[in-house]
Amino acid sequence: MKCKHQFQGHADGVTCLLCGFHLTQDEYVKIMKSKNKEKQDKSRKEGSK
Ligand SMILES: [Zn+2]
Repeated sequence: MKCKHQFQGHADGVTCLLCGFHLTQDEYVKIMKSKNKEKQDKSRKEGSK
């Protein structure tokens, strides 16, 4: 899936404006956390070179 997901918040979670992908708020938080982790891991690797 190459959608960049522009999420809009709702009372019951978030929905992607581009593809209609729906997440609960819990799932959304998990995805955002894992994305941040990926970025941190990457910058660590780049920094160690
Ligand atoms: Zn999307």
